[in-house]
Amino acid sequence: MSNTEALRIGILDGDDIGHEIVPVSVDISRAAAELHGVAIDWTPLPIGARALQTHGHTLPPETLEALKTLDGWILGPIGHRAYPKGPNAINPHPILRKQFNLFANVRPTRSYPDIGCLHDNVDLVIVRENNEGFQPDRNMLMGSGEFRPNDEVTLSVRVITRTGSRRVARAAFELARQRRKHLTYIHKDTVFKLSCGMFVEECQKLAPEYPDVLVDDVIVDTFAMRLVRDPQSFDVVVTTNMFGDILSDEAAGLVGGLGMAPGLCIGDGDVVMAQATHGSAPDIAGRGIANPYAMMESTRMMFEWLGHSRGNEGAVRMGASMAQAITQALGDADARTGDIRGKGNTATFTQAVLRNLRK
Ligand code: ATP
Repeated sequence: MSNTEALRIGILDGDDIGHEIVPVSVDISRAAAELHGVAIDWTPLPIGARALQTHGHTLPPETLEALKTLDGWILGPIGHRAYPKGPNAINPHPILRKQFNLFANVRPTRSYPDIGCLHDNVDLVIVRENNEGFQPDRNMLMGSGEFRPNDEVTLSVRVITRTGSRRVARAAFELARQRRKHLTYIHKDTVFKLSCGMFVEECQKLAPEYPDVLVDDVIVDTFAMRLVRDPQSFDVVVTTNMFGDILSDEAAGLVGGLGMAPGLCIGDGDVVMAQATHGSAPDIAGRGIANPYAMMESTRMMFEWLGHSRGNEGAVRMGASMAQAITQALGDADARTGDIRGKGNTATFTQAVLRNLRK
């Protein structure tokens, strides 16, 4: 029997265009939930620059506490580069990902007609390890993973663990199994013999558990080239944190840019965080022209994921309707935004999605 318990979902706008693209993602979710009779308890929570003003911290303790009671949340982009220097003006990303054990960042890339994609028929997903690697703000218990022993020398620590590698690889294998059953792991074990070597070993160890999945590997620099020339040859791609960060932006560039780059942060099944790949785009904030696709699609992925993980069939159907409505809106040049060859803006795109949902 389907679980009809209300889903508890947080709304965290983030900064800059976050205040434009998160509310409309909630609007279309509400409409889809109504359509399929899905109960959702929404909880708006302070975060980012506005939270610094109102609560004295970019990630107020009350926000962190409230998140612990939720099934998932929508996190808008964070403009931390513009935060003032100080202990209360931190980038919340690493804390959220670490604290909630959101170790896999699922970033799909898909081409659509007429929006300026460099290739047709692209449909791949990069699964990026989220909590270790080279990122100095999350690879240490205390302090930063970067050191400057003297003015001439800077060192960066890259952390690769067996557990971290194994669990992100497993998430990718599971995803591959639901898709075209092809997994490619990306590394550079020719140079990083121990660290990438460990990641490779863990991917290889899991392969026998997934005999139905075709597994291969590509060295990261070769992959960067092949992604541009032949993106259709990939299905699910798994890699370490920084490689994944760079390659997923490259992938977005193939299909219309950052406005087309959704993402979902997942862990071991408890909670899920919808977070688009792009930043807060302060250059276009406040003008109503931001492309809400990536945020809407991230939100849609969250409901689909929750539908499956909580046994909530309505949420699965809700995700399917949202997918159809969003895809259809992308085909409407009057509705879609300028970055993807449209004549519309955030509001017209949203209206088109809502219209399609109600059809
Ligand atoms: P971060 O390092 O925080 O990820 P970034 O340096 O990658 O940020 P973004 O804020 O992601 O920068 O934006 C890069 C450019 O892409 C911006 O100048 C913006 O014009 C464009 N862009 C990003 N997101 C969108 C969007 N949703 N709609 C339209 N344009 C966008």
